[in-house]
Amino acid sequence: MKTYNVGIIGATGMVGQRFALLLSDHPWFKVTVLAASSRSAGKTYEEAVTPRWAMSEPIPESLKGITVMDATADIDKICSLVDFVFCAVDMKKPDILALEEAYAKHECPVVSNNSANRFTPDVPMVIPELNPEHIDIIPEQRKRLGTKRGFIAVKSNCSLQSYVPALFPLDEKFGVDKCLVCTYQAISGAGKTFERWPEILDNVIPYIGGEEEKSEREPLKIWGKIEGDHIALANEPKFTAQCLRVPVSDGHMAAVFVSFKKKPTKEEILEVWKNFSGVPQELKLPHAPKQFLNYFVEDDMPQTKLNRNLEGGMAVSIGRLREDTQYDYKFVCLSHNTLRGAAGGGVLLAELLCAKGYMD
Ligand code: NAP
Repeated sequence: MKTYNVGIIGATGMVGQRFALLLSDHPWFKVTVLAASSRSAGKTYEEAVTPRWAMSEPIPESLKGITVMDATADIDKICSLVDFVFCAVDMKKPDILALEEAYAKHECPVVSNNSANRFTPDVPMVIPELNPEHIDIIPEQRKRLGTKRGFIAVKSNCSLQSYVPALFPLDEKFGVDKCLVCTYQAISGAGKTFERWPEILDNVIPYIGGEEEKSEREPLKIWGKIEGDHIALANEPKFTAQCLRVPVSDGHMAAVFVSFKKKPTKEEILEVWKNFSGVPQELKLPHAPKQFLNYFVEDDMPQTKLNRNLEGGMAVSIGRLREDTQYDYKFVCLSHNTLRGAAGGGVLLAELLCAKGYMD
């Protein structure tokens, strides 16, 4: 595989810091640009990020001395230095739409962690093990944008990165009829640490703005199909969600209740999870977990603190599968929100796009 020069837009943020760690020693990608707002521009990455560095590993040596660029004002220069960018910025939706489209129109592909473009009909929203074929909408998007190389591809919200992977292969075999989910989400999902959010200690906050709508609606795009120049949303499975913020640094847990069109046995469900793998495993992409779905038989597993880093934070942990009194089954599942749920998911998507020739 050739080496691609890449930029991180939003490099100083919580997700940007994860990107910095994942990309500093990536076998295919070399970080040539770090960009953020005008507040950080002109400083070295070390100066800009040190006051808010929230990772347990240190700032990568190879990135410390890079001068942070202004994501908007320096767009021409940035696009001349990279083959594509990762984008994770905290900006208003219209501003993100304008920024991502500007990069794409500069012939610079964008792999985005932001929600702004998730429902743009010709923008693929991909969990690489589940719906990799959605990237084949990119030629249609390029036609709309009038670009040869430039496009936008996005990953889905972090809340659903545990339960959608667990349900997707079950739906293929048994048909998921309806699903109720309650998520227990880490504070890094709000770009926060315990130091910066002391009110969360000893507390649970029963509201995360916009999260329940994303958790219910985004799965329907993952389950969607390419129809001509757009991805048509699926009508089912039906989801209802409640999302809670809990005093955990990293890792989103979900409690799931599910009914099927054709109720499987518990053994059949476990068999599907054990045998499931996708295109990233087939292609041996650098960030593909060997075993994507991992079932724990112990009654008190998985646990957020113990299991969130499974396979570099790219695998999903599942446990407590049992019959329910109202639904067919219930279980819990867990994924790392800033790894599989954010930067890691973005890196895996970029690896898939490179392997399929979309970054050439
Ligand atoms: P964050 O920690 O608040 O970081 C925000 C980043 O955006 C910083 O690098 C900031 O740069 C940059 N930024 C703000 N205004 C900007 C502007 N006008 N121009 C260019 N850059 C600007 O946020 P985060 O948690 O990393 O989230 C970033 C994005 O990822 C959001 O869209 C979020 O919804 C999404 N996401 C987050 C998670 C998660 O678990 N945290 C998961 C999935 C998706 P400065 O330092 O210069 O201000």
